[in-house]
Order: sequence, then C-alpha cells, then structure tokens
Amino acid sequence: MTSSIDTDDSHPVGHAGGPQPQPRVPTRLLLGPGPSEVDPRVLHALDLPPLGHLDPALLDILGELEHMLRGVFLTRNRLTLVISGTGTAGMEAALVNVVEPEDTVLVGVMGYFGERMCQMVQRLGGILRRVEASWGEALDPQQMREAILRERPRVVCIVHAETSTGVCQQGVADIAGAAHEADAVLVVDAVTSLGGQPVHVDQWGIDVCYSSSQKCLGAPAGLAPITFGERAVDKMRKRSALPTSFYLDAMLLSDYWHDRQYHHTISAPLIYALYTALRLLHEEGLEERWRRHHRHHRALRAGIQTMGLAYLPAEDLSLWPLNAVRLPDGLDEAAVRSALLHRYGIEVGGGLGPLRGRLLRVGLMGYGAQQRFVLQLLAALEDVLRAQGLPIEVGVGLAAAMQG
Ligand code: PLP
Repeated sequence: MTSSIDTDDSHPVGHAGGPQPQPRVPTRLLLGPGPSEVDPRVLHALDLPPLGHLDPALLDILGELEHMLRGVFLTRNRLTLVISGTGTAGMEAALVNVVEPEDTVLVGVMGYFGERMCQMVQRLGGILRRVEASWGEALDPQQMREAILRERPRVVCIVHAETSTGVCQQGVADIAGAAHEADAVLVVDAVTSLGGQPVHVDQWGIDVCYSSSQKCLGAPAGLAPITFGERAVDKMRKRSALPTSFYLDAMLLSDYWHDRQYHHTISAPLIYALYTALRLLHEEGLEERWRRHHRHHRALRAGIQTMGLAYLPAEDLSLWPLNAVRLPDGLDEAAVRSALLHRYGIEVGGGLGPLRGRLLRVGLMGYGAQQRFVLQLLAALEDVLRAQGLPIEVGVGLAAAMQG
C-alpha cells in the first residue's frame, strides 16, 4: 500500500498519516565518474523557494554566479554562463555555436568522450578529421600540431579530462597555439577537470571551454558552465546561418544572462545549488581545492597499488579526480561493482567501450575528495576482491593510503 497514489483530493497529498509523496532513495556513497557527493549545505540550497527566471533577485544571483565561474575557469571572457542541461548539453552548446556545415573540424580522440565529440561534429555537417591516441594514452601535442597545420581546420576539439580512461591531456597551451596559427578555434571539454585540477582558460588560450555541475564543482547534475572567448564569439558573429539549436544558441543565452530577455525557464533551485557550491569552492580557494584532489588521488593510488592493482594511465598522465584502475584478468567487473554497491552502498563506475569489463573508475570529486571516503572505499574493495579470490593482505591498502 505504501506505493499507492493518494487520489482523495479533499486533503493535500502527504498529509499526516497519508503516504509519503517522495520516492524511496537508498543511501549511497557516490565514488563513480559522476555524479559526485554533494556537501549538505549545497543540498539545503535546493530547498529554497523557487524564483521566477526574470525575478531581479534571481538575476542578481546569476550575476554573482557568472562572476564566480570566471574565477574557476580563470578567464575574463564576458560570455561566461551556464547551460540548462548536463555536460553533454555543454558539449553540444560549444559545438553547435562554433561549427558550421562544411567546416573542417579536427578532433583529438583518446577515449569515449572524444568519440562523442566526433558524432556531434558529423551531426552538425562538419568535415571530421581525427587524431587518435590509444585508450589510456594522451594525444601527442606535436602530432596534433602537425595535423592542425596540415588540415587547417576551422575548429579543433580536445577533451582535457578523458573520464573513460582517467587520462589528463597535456600540452593544451601548445595545441591552442597551433590552432591559433591555423586561425582555428579551440574547444576544450573540462567536464571532469574543472575545479579538481588546473584548467587555465585564458593562460592556455582556450577559446571555448565547458564543464558540468555534478563533478568537481560539487553540485547536483543539471547545469553545464561554459565560457566563450573573443575568437569564438567572432566566429559565431560571422556565421552564415543561425545555429540549428534555439535552446543552445549562445547569443540568445547571452541576451538572457546579460540583457535580461526571456529565453527559457532556468531552474532556480539548481542555480542556488551551483551558487552555493561555487561559494564553498572560493572559500576553500581554487588552488587549495586542486591540491586536495591531488592529495586524495595520491593516497588512493598508493592504496590501490599496494593491493596489487594497476592504474590504466601512467602516473604523470593520471587525472586527479578520476582514478582508472585495471582489474586483473578473470575478475568480474560487474560482480565487483555490484558487491560494492549492495554490500557497502558505494557506487563506482565500470569501463566504457573497449575497456568494458576491465576497469573500475573511481571518482574523488568535489565533496567526495576526502580521506574518509578513500579509506572507506579501500576497506570495502579489499573485502570484495578477497572474496573474489585475490590474495590481498588485510589492511595493506589502508596503511599505504594513510602514509601516501
Ligand atoms: N564529457 C566528459 C569528459 C564527461 O566525463 C562527461 C560525463 O561523464 C560528459 C562529457 C557528458 O556529461 P553528462 O553525462 O553530464 O551529460
């Protein structure tokens, strides 16, 4: 009876003694590739009453949010705002605005999300050129440079933090330099890195950079911060036709964010949550937050390796917020993840594409990058792996992580 819907409208749903209207949600520790754990103060912000999307009070909040975002992207770009949608909407907004049909677009592919960019470029009618690195490696900036100068694309795309492999792309500034030499615009996916490790939009010369709310920024999913530099805005102004998406048109979004013209009904509670998450980030300090992510990545890495497991990427290529751990041959990835979830309430991710069944992806992102969570995961993982027959000495992972 608890799942039946109260159809008696003589009293409000959820009245004392009646069925609770909320869904039943189990307690989880979110240590996967995102969404990540959320600070209770951010969650409380979701309870604040909604405001209209043109309410001056909400517009003031958006103004402050925009300012705080510039401080995270490390940019002075005027066109810095939030897309109503997840990281994929950020990717789509970046590409639909700067790619025109028949534009040559060069995409650096080293994993699942680079592939997704390629699919979007093709849907937009761009002429796709690819530079590839095998999954677990990063793109060679010199090879990117040669390809850019050979193909002379209008747009170059790379993923800074490839969540499918745990690889952090090096040499973004060099790739930007080559793109600008060829008069191309550089689009960078920082969905998993923004707020968790260095991303310098202006210093590196990135023209368009997007992220998402639910990873290192520490808010729930549903918003995608994005910033467009002058070169990108210039290309957008010279388009021969409007972008095919009304919803993601950056110029229309700018009219809403900066000139207060209705475009769509932004979710005030999600904005309050991201606002709070960014206030907490700036209170902590951006660089301190990067250091915190690095510290807990190192501790987890020490624990994992001492337990006899290996990371997919080399240490100097490893992302801090996302740990891609290889499972020994013969071990059942789905069974490991299921035991972590059902016995310990811990969510971690599995491998994507060619890495399906062979990888655990552990996120230590935002509020989730804490020592107690590292230790909780290592203890649970040790138990699950021992139950699967791996000869791990009790407690070695925890001890290494605490020294690491
Ligand atoms: N880009 C990267 C690098 C990602 O890791 C993700 C999601 O994990 C996305 C894009 C898409 O984001 P979302 O799932 O929020 O739409």
